[in-house]
Amino acid sequence: MTGFKAFPLMDSILEQLALKGYKDPTPVQKESIPILLEGRDLLGIAQTGTGKTAAFSLPMINKFGKNRIDIEPHCTRALILTPTRELASQIMDNIDDYAEGLNLKTKVVYGGARRRDQVEALKHGLDILVATPGRLLDLIRSGDVNFKQLEVFILDEADTMLDMGFFDDVQLVTEQLPETRQTALFSATMPETIESLGHAILISPLKVEIAPESSTVDLVDQKIFFLEKANKKFSLNSILENRKYESVLVFCKTKFGADIVVEDLLKTSVTAAAIHSKKSQTDRERALQDFKDGKIRVLVATDVAARGIDVDNISLVINFNLPEDPRNYIHRIGRTARAGKRGVAISFCVENDLVLLKSIEKNINQKVPVDTTQPFHKEFQVAAKKKKKPKKKYKF
Ligand code: AMP
Repeated sequence: MTGFKAFPLMDSILEQLALKGYKDPTPVQKESIPILLEGRDLLGIAQTGTGKTAAFSLPMINKFGKNRIDIEPHCTRALILTPTRELASQIMDNIDDYAEGLNLKTKVVYGGARRRDQVEALKHGLDILVATPGRLLDLIRSGDVNFKQLEVFILDEADTMLDMGFFDDVQLVTEQLPETRQTALFSATMPETIESLGHAILISPLKVEIAPESSTVDLVDQKIFFLEKANKKFSLNSILENRKYESVLVFCKTKFGADIVVEDLLKTSVTAAAIHSKKSQTDRERALQDFKDGKIRVLVATDVAARGIDVDNISLVINFNLPEDPRNYIHRIGRTARAGKRGVAISFCVENDLVLLKSIEKNINQKVPVDTTQPFHKEFQVAAKKKKKPKKKYKF
């Protein structure tokens, strides 16, 4: 038996996977699905783009599809906690696809969306609740969520939670959960804090470690453009003249910067939209959907808004500004190498960024080639190492 059929999953799930065009499980799915189907706890080191959503959701869909129970009002059988609204709604979309036809009750809750709808859905009890920490705590405090029937808890993107300052919230949530449950923790990296959280919330977990970040990096054809700041927008225009880049994600440092890039692109008749935290939830969702549907060619984003953007077929990532945190470089360029596909990433680098570039290269443990053939190339005087002064010799 090959592909997903090797797993004891319900026929309707296998049909949905086939409809989505999934032929074979990705490595994280191959390893995690059997562990979770057995009911074991799991510590998964895998990043967005590896297929981890299906890895953790298929076993629970299978379990809930086969074994129905009476769910009491405000209760949920599974909780998936994830850091951003975008990730939360993508996870929900995927789950609703995989669970099509099974009549599972599911809901996604996050801030910025109508609380009343979320409370209403919870009133009827849920099979699967996907949530971001802030809104979930709010709903816990108001008594709208109850975990007494919880069977499965998934903590997704634990390191992003930490980076975004949600760690205390995560701990407050986990304190509310019943001790008898199945838990899976997923994180792209495993800093000490996450490791100790793992010890606290997992029981004898099996570890699955997939595609260390460097292998994602290997799938991306990376280039650095040395240029003057004033030439960035012209360089962007000239890159976009190449129609082979159909779907382009541009990263900017600030919300303001992202809006300016969009304005400039619209002037050159390139379809573009920005997503960042100053945009309303509706605008962000519309921009993302239009980008997914190919209605706009360029999506301009800040790091936080772009975390985990799940869009297939992004042909090019452009770092209009290098990321301040070198670890974000991998997250950014990984958007163009989803599920094993190859991609291209171009990073603009002005002279002041050279130190930043060095720390990025150190982080990914490789040098990124500078494209000296691009039309705006500028030679930078890469500072030579200071020679040590010879020690003074004193004569007595
Ligand atoms: P994730 O890491 O869960 O965000 O998934 C990354 C992307 O890979 C999503 O667009 C999924 O739809 C896609 N995907 C997940 N599993 C598979 C699979 N087995 N075959 C092909 N694509 C997949």
